[in-house]
Amino acid sequence: MQKKRLLRILPVFILTFSIILFVDFQLRTRKRHKLHFIHDMSEGIPQHWNQGGPHSPAKEASIPAKDRIVVTPSPLKLTDIFLAVKTTRRFHNTRLYLLLETWISKTKEHTFIFTDSEDEDVSSRGYNLIVTGCPSDHSHQALSCKMAAEYDHFIASDKKWLCHVDDDNYVNPGALLSLLSSFPRDSDVYVGKPSLDHPIKANELLEGNKTKEVQFWFATGGAGFCISRRLADKMAPWASGPRFEQTSAVIRLPDDCTVGFIVERRLGVSMVHSSMFHSHLENLLLLPPRNIPLQVTLSYGLFENKMNSVALKGIFSKEDDPSRFKTVHCILYPLTSWCP
Ligand code: UDP
Ligand code: MN
Repeated sequence: MQKKRLLRILPVFILTFSIILFVDFQLRTRKRHKLHFIHDMSEGIPQHWNQGGPHSPAKEASIPAKDRIVVTPSPLKLTDIFLAVKTTRRFHNTRLYLLLETWISKTKEHTFIFTDSEDEDVSSRGYNLIVTGCPSDHSHQALSCKMAAEYDHFIASDKKWLCHVDDDNYVNPGALLSLLSSFPRDSDVYVGKPSLDHPIKANELLEGNKTKEVQFWFATGGAGFCISRRLADKMAPWASGPRFEQTSAVIRLPDDCTVGFIVERRLGVSMVHSSMFHSHLENLLLLPPRNIPLQVTLSYGLFENKMNSVALKGIFSKEDDPSRFKTVHCILYPLTSWCP
């Protein structure tokens, strides 16, 4: 009798015990997942770019792959980049229109054209034309005034990167996005190409008419450069409102040098040197044609009365496309209506 009763109770007992074990196991694994989730949220996104410390592979290896929840931040978009083009009224027809026809046609919504006079033709076509109150000449003061306007407009925007270019630059949007995406997000980045092979020397004006020699790298404005949001925000004490021009006066150098001075000397952040930005101060003929579509910026200009531009043959003649920007554009975007 006793034995029969035991045989009836035993399966019930085993079933209850298994359920308890199962629930306990489930609760334990969930807790573990939660802990790793918090770990990834706080450490998965490297915050230490300047210290060179992205997240630790050793730590990652200690978490079994099945327990890892990777929080992937949304990737950088082209529209996250504030593209500032510096120009002047007398270059609208000769330089700006070529850019509107080519690369700006791909970045219109987030490209901002900083100039010195209204141009109904440009603004009525929906481009962001910003008429600064700056003088229209090529003086340090005039150029710094436009750079200050670029900086202030970027700070007021919701964009993640400020990229400056001159009106004789071609911007390759895909290459630019790849380059900027390669930096850890929310890091201090100032990237461009120096025009010198050594840091520039300046005499910083101190109080009481004293001066101090300072050295720093700067990215030449004629090749274009980019600054991350986090770094741009930190530049405010020397760059916002009238301060940019005041800082420029302290070193008596133009706008692009002033940016380098603020970043390297005032903030102690080193410029990232990139060979993918190009000004017409370098010999553009030396760029191998197969590498041209990979470059972030290109330029053109007269050097000793001869055109210095990239060496791309075909598509358009040198007469029809002296800058070679139309040719580059048709290589990158062959479906463009005006490309042959
Ligand atoms: N620029 C200007 N006012 C001038 C001459 C030039 O605002 O009187 C701008 C021009 O639109 C360009 C930049 O300054 O974006 C550099 O000018 P340029 O290419 O003529 O000279 P560079 O400094 O390259 O020799
Ligand atoms: Mn130029």
